[in-house]
Amino acid sequence: MAGLAAVPLAAGGALSGAAFLAWAVRGRASSVFGPSVWHGPRGNRTIALTFDDGPSESTPEILEILARYHVPATFFQIGANVERLSAVARAVAEAGHLIGNHSYTHPLFCFRSTLFMATELERTQRAIEEHTGARPEWFRPPFGARWFGLRQAQARLQLTAVMWSVIGYDWKLRPEAIVGRVAAGTSNGAILCLHDGRELRVKPDIGATVEAVRCLVPLLLDRGYKLETVSRLLCPTN
Ligand SMILES: [Zn+2]
Repeated sequence: MAGLAAVPLAAGGALSGAAFLAWAVRGRASSVFGPSVWHGPRGNRTIALTFDDGPSESTPEILEILARYHVPATFFQIGANVERLSAVARAVAEAGHLIGNHSYTHPLFCFRSTLFMATELERTQRAIEEHTGARPEWFRPPFGARWFGLRQAQARLQLTAVMWSVIGYDWKLRPEAIVGRVAAGTSNGAILCLHDGRELRVKPDIGATVEAVRCLVPLLLDRGYKLETVSRLLCPTN
């Protein structure tokens, strides 16, 4: 932890060791365990819609809504789900969306070894590349949790972690509540996090997410936001 000593001072100096560790692991603005972003530039009205935990049997419903509005999104896919539903994973890429890495089995990384995390990330890179042709540059940690050694695991694969500006809690809230939460939390440069799967579940019920997306996309466009992939939000020259 010695090398981290300067960070809590920079953050105000008032954090206890335990509070600091909790922030380092889960804090959306923490880069303690590796390069990580949670927000895009605030100077223009561009935002990124992201989906975790897919592909699932219901991902095509999300693709259909995005296609209707010609809106690109970023899908952080789970390696095991990609292998189970490779045609759906491929359909996401073929529709022009960006694919990111969301680990192979969706484990909590806390207390895990560098090798364990590196293997989770590598297997997923391989699965995504094999089935979609895309090689992810972005990675979203399962449960948003980072840990010691993740920096090395990310570096080996040149992955940057992507947290979020607003998360929909769409795995437990009703569609209206998801829409209200996400709409209220969206501002210039925001990264929005929803889920087109539910961890490793087969045929998960993502009805609330689908309903929320059906509402959110036109609402955000109506408010003048331009929706982009994470790459284009963060590096507009891409
Ligand atoms: Zn997840």
